[in-house]
Amino acid sequence: MKNFRKIPAIDELLLHEKTVWLIGKYKREFVVDMLRRATDELRRDLSASPKECTKEELMELIVNKMEKNVARLLQGTLQKVINGTGVVLHTNLGRAPLSEGAINYLQAMAVNYNNLELDLEQGLRGSRYWHIEDILTRLTGAEAALVVNNNAAAVLLGLNTLAKGREVIVSRGQLVEIGGAFRIPEVMKLSGAQLVEVGTTNRTYISDFAAAITEETALLFAAHTSNYKIVGFSEEVPMEALVKLGRERGMPVMQDLGSGILCPDADWGLREEPSVNDCVKAGADIITFSGDKLLGGPQAGIVLGKKSYIEAMKKNQLTRALRVDKLTIAALEGTLLEYLSGHPQQNIPVIRMLGSSQDELQQRAEKLAALLQAAAKSSGSIRKILVLEVEDMVGGGAYPTHKIPGWGVEIEFTELHLSEVAKKLRAMNPALLTRKQDDKMLISVRTLLPGDEEIIVEMLAAVQKPGGSID
Ligand SMILES: *Cc1c(COP(=O)(O)O)cnc(C)c1O
Repeated sequence: MKNFRKIPAIDELLLHEKTVWLIGKYKREFVVDMLRRATDELRRDLSASPKECTKEELMELIVNKMEKNVARLLQGTLQKVINGTGVVLHTNLGRAPLSEGAINYLQAMAVNYNNLELDLEQGLRGSRYWHIEDILTRLTGAEAALVVNNNAAAVLLGLNTLAKGREVIVSRGQLVEIGGAFRIPEVMKLSGAQLVEVGTTNRTYISDFAAAITEETALLFAAHTSNYKIVGFSEEVPMEALVKLGRERGMPVMQDLGSGILCPDADWGLREEPSVNDCVKAGADIITFSGDKLLGGPQAGIVLGKKSYIEAMKKNQLTRALRVDKLTIAALEGTLLEYLSGHPQQNIPVIRMLGSSQDELQQRAEKLAALLQAAAKSSGSIRKILVLEVEDMVGGGAYPTHKIPGWGVEIEFTELHLSEVAKKLRAMNPALLTRKQDDKMLISVRTLLPGDEEIIVEMLAAVQKPGGSID
């Protein structure tokens, strides 16, 4: 307990050469605050430790703590995470990594002024929504398009514009909740529209919709049940039938597609899922989907549909609150250009990952295993490294029952506890997220990005070092 009396005062700590150096680099108040916090931390450590220290030792401990905390704080809170989970669209990991084309375009627009709302030909004020509309309609066959903050915003805007104060008919089997926060009934309430549920959880027929239409009905609504599947004795109304009913009764049909596939030729075993183009062909008046799910772009809500409805949505005051900024527009346009140029499979990371062949994945897993094996030779803490087939997933609240066969590396440790290793790997920068299977660590190679393999080898080597505390 004598330690406490020896803790140096802030004035003394300020004379330490490391502190002096940091004050030369950053704001003095910031460094003083960090010293205070480090001193508090040391007090906590000391109360748990019986070891007696000299005043000089305590000073070193505080200054080193402070230095480490400063470095950690100034690296920012967002950091790179290597995705070894095999879940391609992981909402916790920021969903889709962007293509190089999107990044280059984004960067050029971010560091410069641009024509976000300027019509360069006329020299007059323009619209930010003009930029992506042409390319979206070209790629999808839709009549008009609009982009807002995210798909939740797109659904809210669509409902508010087309059905505020009136009724919207939805199948009970489609009252979905996505990611814990997006619930169709709640969004409906917020939009000012009134939900009319028809059918049952597992079966809804077109006759249920027809029977529920009244004077008050403004809209027929369908949501893609992208994060769960009702299997067995179930029936949903096909979009074509809903569109036909809407036309007969003179009311629009809106479809919340969720994860929009814009790559209709790709064979990921997702053929049974409707692509954006299929939905446009089926004739829904308004279709919404996310920019950062299977499209592989930035967070955005894409609205496609009939010109008159899109124009009404653009005029809605809500659009001002839900509008996208130049960075989103740039990243989205950059992504869409990859589709327009015809090479999304090569250039968009998410599409590339989903399209990787079994052979390619196996080779990559073997290469990773070989690199790990070579690095593990010097340490005794890895018992076994195995290349094996794994089951990957699309993720992002999409296709929950759909497993994609992939390849990965399984690592078995000798002394280290698996959860301890996983924790250490998460504490590094970049961090590594892995999967656990039968008490072994599993790294799926599908979701690794170029260069990740080498970093993983270094990370695992650092974890294995005896007493290798790496934080
Ligand atoms: C993901 C999803 C949403 C929410 O989209 P965000 O872009 O995350 O706002 C809404 N509806 C469906 C069907 C979805 O799959």
